[in-house]
Amino acid sequence: MRRDLWVLILGRQPTERTIGTPNFKYVGNMHGNEVVGRVLLLQLIDYLLRGYGSDPLVTRLLATTRVHILPSMNPDGFESSGRDCMFSPGRFNKNSVDLNRNFPDAFSRPEGEGGEREAEVRAVMDWLASESFVLSANLHGGAVVASYPYDNSNGGSELQKGNSVSPDDDVFVHLAKTYSFTHGSMRKGDSCFDSQDFPDGITNGYKWYQLPGGMQDYNYVWSQCLEITLELSCCKFPPEKDLPGLWNLNRPALLAYMQQVHLGVKGQVLDWDGQPVQNAVVEVEGRRNLCPFRTDRHGEYYRLLLPGNYTFKVTFPGHHQLTETLSVPYGPDSSSALTHNFLLQRSTSSIPSLPPTTPCNTSQLWGPLEGYARAPRPLWTALLLALTSLYLLPGL
Ligand code: ZN
Repeated sequence: MRRDLWVLILGRQPTERTIGTPNFKYVGNMHGNEVVGRVLLLQLIDYLLRGYGSDPLVTRLLATTRVHILPSMNPDGFESSGRDCMFSPGRFNKNSVDLNRNFPDAFSRPEGEGGEREAEVRAVMDWLASESFVLSANLHGGAVVASYPYDNSNGGSELQKGNSVSPDDDVFVHLAKTYSFTHGSMRKGDSCFDSQDFPDGITNGYKWYQLPGGMQDYNYVWSQCLEITLELSCCKFPPEKDLPGLWNLNRPALLAYMQQVHLGVKGQVLDWDGQPVQNAVVEVEGRRNLCPFRTDRHGEYYRLLLPGNYTFKVTFPGHHQLTETLSVPYGPDSSSALTHNFLLQRSTSSIPSLPPTTPCNTSQLWGPLEGYARAPRPLWTALLLALTSLYLLPGL
């Protein structure tokens, strides 16, 4: 049976992309029997809609950010789920596949013959290709911890003291701590009797356990969207009476994490005549991303960075390389990353003006980056339900 995955977009102008407004997303219920994220995201939608126009923080957030919320990525799994805390069926989708093992992986070969993608995974891959997301979190249950990339490793230089360390590790640690420190209890790190202790309530994903084909590594490596995985409850399917308490624990953290979309620097790469340049490579010195960050079809880039001085290198064929050092403040305080446009100058040499053919640094990976190109259209379609006005939607 064909089903749709429903996404709600919230923002002052939810139906259109505006330059300088970053895209943020939350995804819940990827494992169908981990239901807390699904309920929290519905509650969050209600909270944001009620707060718009009255709560200054919510109003500012929705005025400066496009917020995309997918409450359930695995509705089939949810419907088949039992209510046991830990051992219910429903983790997998209808085809008995774990969706969080089914994404293309930079470090190991995909599972299964030819690495087939489930419809839910293809829908999310298409979604990522259609919007330029900057920051994301993926809500799970069964522990209480904020886990950050990488989840996988092939034993290369990324492997350091049992952690699989990404070039943006400092930013990921900050993002994970933003959640755990504003959550009511996560930073204690020992919430569940049967799980290990997590210092500060955070962990490198690989250090916790190796996970190939996960969604957070895919977001980061291929879609330049920084995503972390939030484990929000010891019990995967808690009784209804626990839900208000879980909302109170998570509400400040869900809001504080969204504000982090304004870290760092954003802007456009423009040609000599002021036209946006798509596919320009925008690199930050000292951060060798497996797939270099590139401008989107509007010539826009976003780089989440902690406050400090950073040297940017911008390259595009047929143009002089641009190198500039920027002093980056803490953007969430002003609800905006530092805005900086890069202006390219054409090179007089006869370098062809074609985008580079090798999108990613494949030498560090197991092989060609399967899945980088846009995936085939799924049978399912991830429907984007865009609000024409925040006021049209009654409380959920
Ligand atoms: Zn899970």
